[in-house]
Amino acid sequence: MTTARRTPFVPGLIPGPGSLLDWRDSRHFDHWQDKPCVLCDKPTPMRSHAGEAVHKACAEDWITDNPTEARAFGRFASDTRPKTSKSPVGDHA
Ligand SMILES: [Zn+2]
Repeated sequence: MTTARRTPFVPGLIPGPGSLLDWRDSRHFDHWQDKPCVLCDKPTPMRSHAGEAVHKACAEDWITDNPTEARAFGRFASDTRPKTSKSPVGDHA
């Protein structure tokens, strides 16, 4: 069976050390199974943008410990923020 989950999951900004990831997208949560976290080995339903099983808190700790790699490789990133393109008011040009 082909699933409809093939749309690219585009990572957004890398949070700075000590900052929290913004993982609001439901694709960060695997409803089907827990897998061992790549960082602490305890089971987690959480997934990074790249599909790595990782606790959000572990990913945040990793970014804090490895800020250079975090920025160089973008291993763990926050979700992209949907742009608020619609501004119903305020067109005073
Ligand atoms: Zn973990």
